[in-house]
Amino acid sequence: VEIALKNNQGVHYFNADDGAYHQRRLTITRRLEQALKHNELTLYYQPKQQLSDGRVQSCECLLRWIDNGEFISPGEFIPIAERSGLILVLGEWVLDSAFNQARAWYEEGRKIQIAINISARQFLQPGFAESIERRLREYAIPASLIELELTETSIMDNHQLASAVLMELRALGVSLSIDDFGTGYSSLAYLSAFPVDKVKIDRSFVSQMVDAPKQQAIVLTICQLAHNLGLKVIAEGVETDVQRELLHQYGCDFLQGYLFARPVPASEAVTLFN
Ligand code: C2E
Ligand code: CA
Ligand code: CA
Ligand code: CA
Repeated sequence: VEIALKNNQGVHYFNADDGAYHQRRLTITRRLEQALKHNELTLYYQPKQQLSDGRVQSCECLLRWIDNGEFISPGEFIPIAERSGLILVLGEWVLDSAFNQARAWYEEGRKIQIAINISARQFLQPGFAESIERRLREYAIPASLIELELTETSIMDNHQLASAVLMELRALGVSLSIDDFGTGYSSLAYLSAFPVDKVKIDRSFVSQMVDAPKQQAIVLTICQLAHNLGLKVIAEGVETDVQRELLHQYGCDFLQGYLFARPVPASEAVTLFN
């Protein structure tokens, strides 16, 4: 089994049995524990634009970690934190930071919705919905300012438990979206049964849609299916005008990507909302 890890030097391939991979994993885990303790993590915010009118009133928060000048990608450390269980502590930290930011913007009179990535382990942990309920109360913000992004696999792999937790969250009034849609074994039947508000089309489809007719058909189908089920659609990783134009034609509701904005610190993101 080969495992690809991405860092600022590019992609490194490790054999799963390889000592180098285990060493890197241990190092990351140890450094990440320290980073959490010393508050060396930060959240960046990437605005989402509504396609119908160009308005920008929501964003996704993304973890950033600079360890002694080395940028370590969440694409690398999140899977490691998931395996070690550190994701639970990390996830709590992310929730508190994001709620804190939502509260700060709310106090300034801005109604900006923040989408928070939730990993499978965190979502399926007993008491997860209660922890969201408690934060809504403690930070005293409307539930509509919070969206939770859950991956397709975390829902589909445990659909009964997932469905119960989704119901609890839905009752709180937070928004729910299915992330990386199309990359797992999506069961369309289940999609209609889950109480979610939005699906997020994975970047892998968006980036290929202009040149690959099959990817384009998938994007169009997801847009139509979601709309038929009364869900909103967002496309991630939108980088070109041509992609944007096609998504607009397909009736996609929101877009997110470098074309419009990169993930930036909260102070910069705020200048893009309108
Ligand atoms: P994701 O949730 O699918 O997030 C989208 C990723 O695409 C982000 O990478 C974002 O920076 C990147 N992106 C956005 N627009 C574009 C674009 O136009 N072009 C390209 N090439 N990339 C774009 P990032 O920030 O490196 O995060 C990678 C993954 O790490 C995320 O994928 C998510 O699964 C995970 N992650 C990040 N922050 C958190 C977090 O706070 N909690 C959890 N559980 N996972 C997180
Ligand atoms: Ca996401
Ligand atoms: Ca994705
Ligand atoms: Ca994801």
